[in-house]
Amino acid sequence: MKIDGSCYCGYITYEATIDPGYIGICHCTDCQTFSGSAFRTDALASKEHFRLLTGEPKIYVKTADSGAKRAQAFCPHCGTHVYSAAPNDPQVFSIRTGTARQRSQLIPTAQIWCRSAQAWAMNLAPMKQFPKQPPVSQ
Ligand SMILES: [Zn+2]
Ligand SMILES: [Zn+2]
Repeated sequence: MKIDGSCYCGYITYEATIDPGYIGICHCTDCQTFSGSAFRTDALASKEHFRLLTGEPKIYVKTADSGAKRAQAFCPHCGTHVYSAAPNDPQVFSIRTGTARQRSQLIPTAQIWCRSAQAWAMNLAPMKQFPKQPPVSQ
């Protein structure tokens, strides 16, 4: 499936062909911190199917518990987390689906690192829902 996307400010843009058969939610604590949220969602594109069109991402290389290193790519201007990949000669890019124009079609197929999932994040349906920002009085 062809997708294209950008960071929030538009400095970084990309296009990719992703495998819709694996779109993952990661509940690991590193992803919670990097995303500033409860989990991240990724789609995978092989290197020949991922192309940065504009911009130069800022790279932060994190080291996992396993010792594995992973390059995290952010927009240097607006901070949007765009993708992660191996630090050297990456073969696969893990694209943050919230940056894709087609994000509503990128429906996760699997959840990983569920042992560190925030319990509430596993069941959002019962919470109060508002179509937009609720009035301050509520
Ligand atoms: Zn940006
Ligand atoms: Zn993770």
